[in-house]
Amino acid sequence: MNVSATNWRSFICRACGLIYDEEKGDPDSGLAAGTRFEDIPDDWECPLCGVMKSDFEPYVGFDPDGTTCASVPASRADGVVIVGGGIAGWAVAEAVRALDSDVGITLVSACHADRYHKPELSIALGRGLAPEALVREGAADAARRLGVRLLTDTFAVGLSPSLRQLRTSRGTLSFTKLVLAQGARPALPAALSPDLCWRVNDLAGWSGLHGKLKRGARRVAIVGAGMVGCELAEDFARAGHSVTLLDLQSAPLAALLPAQAGERLRSSLETLGVDFIGDTQVAAVTCGDDGCKTVTTANGLQIVVDEVVAATGLVTASRIARSAGLAFERGIVVDPVSMQTSASGVYALGDCVSISGMPCRFIEPIAKQAAAIAHHLLGRPHAGYAHVQPVIRLKTKSLPIVVHGLPCPDGEWVVIEDSADMLCMQQRRNGELVARLEVGSPRHRLAA
Ligand SMILES: Cc1cc2nc3c(=O)[nH]c(=O)nc-3n(C[C@H](O)[C@H](O)[C@H](O)COP(=O)(O)OP(=O)(O)OC[C@H]3O[C@@H](n4cnc5c(N)ncnc54)[C@H](O)[C@@H]3O)c2cc1C
Repeated sequence: MNVSATNWRSFICRACGLIYDEEKGDPDSGLAAGTRFEDIPDDWECPLCGVMKSDFEPYVGFDPDGTTCASVPASRADGVVIVGGGIAGWAVAEAVRALDSDVGITLVSACHADRYHKPELSIALGRGLAPEALVREGAADAARRLGVRLLTDTFAVGLSPSLRQLRTSRGTLSFTKLVLAQGARPALPAALSPDLCWRVNDLAGWSGLHGKLKRGARRVAIVGAGMVGCELAEDFARAGHSVTLLDLQSAPLAALLPAQAGERLRSSLETLGVDFIGDTQVAAVTCGDDGCKTVTTANGLQIVVDEVVAATGLVTASRIARSAGLAFERGIVVDPVSMQTSASGVYALGDCVSISGMPCRFIEPIAKQAAAIAHHLLGRPHAGYAHVQPVIRLKTKSLPIVVHGLPCPDGEWVVIEDSADMLCMQQRRNGELVARLEVGSPRHRLAA
């Protein structure tokens, strides 16, 4: 189609804020520069979040050449810009403000950025908590307290480290230093349609599911028996729902636990009424006219439920990092001491980073990473971050599980204690202790 360059239009993804610019097209998805929106095939998916073309709407207001747009006040455009309003983003804002009361801080968040403790999402239903009870501090209050300019519902979509500019769905921001705290997003296998499966990786996702489950006992299928899947299964069962937990492996949490421990977890979940189905791959999820979902497995099993939850792991979105040419290896690669990315003045922390090729998606390192970043970007002396594998504690109340160290997937476990109440195992490599596992309550052991 031959159209004047002045007629180029942009369309924004309502789900993630990605902007499709007709002039640039999206060569990564096979759309050549100049592809008109109406010429994009209907089955084209948002390259960032995977929703359909129909989820895009016309976008106006972006000024590609300017540094601001109507929605972004021009004042204090430079300074520290933080991408992400989760625990990591706010931790950096706190750490920077604690060291410097004057430096400009702008926090850009795709979500509302209210402060809540994400680990509570997998125990909140059983405790009868409503979404508003989980918010510890509203985003606007936190921003006021810290003197932070807050841009919520704003997506970072591109980054130029050399120009020191961050492109967002509300315009372009200049920065002196940038911190990426964009988290990780659920990795959905092709069989799990995002329209039919809940994801519990943020308060909004949990709140939507909570809205369905608070109405009374429901049948819920949870796909994926990792940490989050197992915790949710226990929590939902405690709240009175009928839970089916499905996994590719024969026992829950198989990536972390040896078979004996996995069996204990399975039987503990089953005691609570959770139906664990292992060695099973979900082939499709469909929705009937009555709103019920049918989960069909590769071996022909059909499970009819009210809600399906995908707990199939996380992946770091690479688009911003790739647009900026940042080193990326299962996450944004950072220097393990300064937390600086491969671009000078650009830092990253939390769920979105990888250290030595490994993401580490836990709460405990975040405050230490934030402190290291705050010192480094302000040029203050600091020993830096020193990565230590956090202790993993599964929040399954019926069977506490604690893992110290990082087990090797193919390493051999040795039983140290095996009683009815406690299983304790160790894993060694080349004679050195690499991991220790406790399954059960130490209280039982003390009482024995
Ligand atoms: C159910 C559940 C239970 C958990 N339990 C535990 C536990 O018991 N112990 C533990 O240590 N850890 C636990 N975790 C992990 C822990 O919660 C996370 O490691 C931590 O919250 C990650 O924080 P974050 O700020 O890095 O990421 P997130 O909380 O994911 O925040 C990312 C932020 O970035 C924003 N964002 C994303 N993309 C963009 C963009 N393009 N532009 C602008 N903003 C963007 C998002 O809106 C969000 O505000 C649990 C996680 C879950 C889901």
